[in-house]
Amino acid sequence: MSKKTRTELNAENAELRAQLSKVNALLSQRAPQRDMLSEDNQAERKRAEESLRESETRYRRLFETAKDGILLLDADTGQITSVNPFLIELLGYSREEFLGKRLWEIGLFKDTAASQSAFRELQQKHYIRYEELPLETRHGARVEVEFVSNIYRVNGSNVIQCNIRDISERVQARDQLRRANEDLSALVVELQKHDHDMRLINRMHDLLQICKTQAEAYQVIALAAGELFVGQSGGLAIWHASGHYLETVARWGREPLLESIFPLDDCWAMRRGQMHEVVDVHANVICRHFVRPPESGYLCLPLVVQGETLGLFYLETPIGMSDARMTRHGQLVVTVGEGIKLALSNLKLRERMHEQANQDHLTGLFNRRYLYDTLPRELHRALRHNTPVSVAMLDIDHFKQVNDTFGHDAGDRFLVELGRMLNANVRKSDLACRYGGEEFVLVLPDSSIEDSRRHLEQICNHFRELQVQHGEDLLGPLTLSVGIAQTPEHGVTADELLRAADEAMYAAKQSGRDGIVVFNDHVHRTG
Ligand code: GH3
Ligand code: MG
Ligand code: MG
Repeated sequence: MSKKTRTELNAENAELRAQLSKVNALLSQRAPQRDMLSEDNQAERKRAEESLRESETRYRRLFETAKDGILLLDADTGQITSVNPFLIELLGYSREEFLGKRLWEIGLFKDTAASQSAFRELQQKHYIRYEELPLETRHGARVEVEFVSNIYRVNGSNVIQCNIRDISERVQARDQLRRANEDLSALVVELQKHDHDMRLINRMHDLLQICKTQAEAYQVIALAAGELFVGQSGGLAIWHASGHYLETVARWGREPLLESIFPLDDCWAMRRGQMHEVVDVHANVICRHFVRPPESGYLCLPLVVQGETLGLFYLETPIGMSDARMTRHGQLVVTVGEGIKLALSNLKLRERMHEQANQDHLTGLFNRRYLYDTLPRELHRALRHNTPVSVAMLDIDHFKQVNDTFGHDAGDRFLVELGRMLNANVRKSDLACRYGGEEFVLVLPDSSIEDSRRHLEQICNHFRELQVQHGEDLLGPLTLSVGIAQTPEHGVTADELLRAADEAMYAAKQSGRDGIVVFNDHVHRTG
């Protein structure tokens, strides 16, 4: 190694020193620039800090004044770290009751297990949303909310933010709309049912119009009621005024409970003369006309037309009917009852009119009703004019044997022939009636007992000669037993005279038939 001289070393040193001073000079030139850089940084940081503060203030203001509930939770533990005033107000829990708790520990959710599993799901998915979630407030009220929660990172840890929107009003409005819709649909169904019922009622009316007998009407009513009141048992009972009892004549449904025959007092509706409605069998008074106590409610409707009691309409009420439906059901029963009672009353009237017709349809003679209508008038006239009236009762002897031997038709033919003969053998002022069965009555005004007896002898003789063709045979002869009574000697009223004539006729029977007896007199043989 070459040994440098001190001079050489000094020179080298001087060189280095010169270079260092250059570097220093250079460095001293750069120094202000470096100072300037650190000033910029600080300003920037300041600005950043300020804007962070502003942002934090904005966020806090949002948090404090938001019209939605906001909850912040620790994503790892699930504990609540922050709750905004809106949520406190909405749910009624204090801030202290929220903080540090988990959501399922507060009592917001009915189902704790479900909210715990929802929390686990959130931890996995980082986002969960319930469009409609029911929460319970501290006071037990129910609040419908939209619940959105998500997880984000703050300062290296996970935070859950839950946004809770009160949608109770929206849900209420929607439910109201749904209910209105359901009501409307129910109304449409109700109207359709009403229309269907009206058609059935009209058809029942049409059928009842053409019924000829009460028995036919009962059948129509049972069928129509069975269709109208599906699943509801019921019955129709008819009032028999003569015997003071009700008789069930029509039944429908699964298990009709109406007794066959029962007294009027067994029915509260019949006793009170108005509809009796039993809603609760344990709370209302129950009628006694059931084969066993009814389990469900029922209606009893008395059928009364212009003060005349015709019968009772009974119908079971379906269980669980709303008040509105119950009212409509009651109205329907009344409408059906109106139709039934009018039809029954019309039929009764028709039957009565038929009964009241003056002629006997077999013989063409007047009937008993006509006799009762006219005889009092005839007697009254005779009394005024002081003239006699004879009443004769004629009865075919052993007529039953004719029926029994040759049949009812053969018997009818004799009745018809006797009617024809009587008609032919009476004066215009006389009255010939079929009193009933094979009994006839002749009313002979202005005729003495003797004249009457002679007249009846002729009739008896004619009758004895009468023969009726039956197949190849000629039937006959038949005979008559006759009783005669006269006003005023034997009575002055129609009843008295008819009874006297009947007694005399019975005396003729007793004396061997085929004869004429004047009341209180001896037997007169006609043969
Ligand atoms: P008697 O001489 O004692 O009167 O005897 P009878 O058989 O005539 O009297 P009974 O009272 O026993 O019977 C009357 C019969 O008259 C019985 C009934 O069948 C018959 N009869 C009543 N009305 C009619 C009718 O419209 N047509 C027919 N064919 N028979 C009738
Ligand atoms: Mg008789
Ligand atoms: Mg007879």
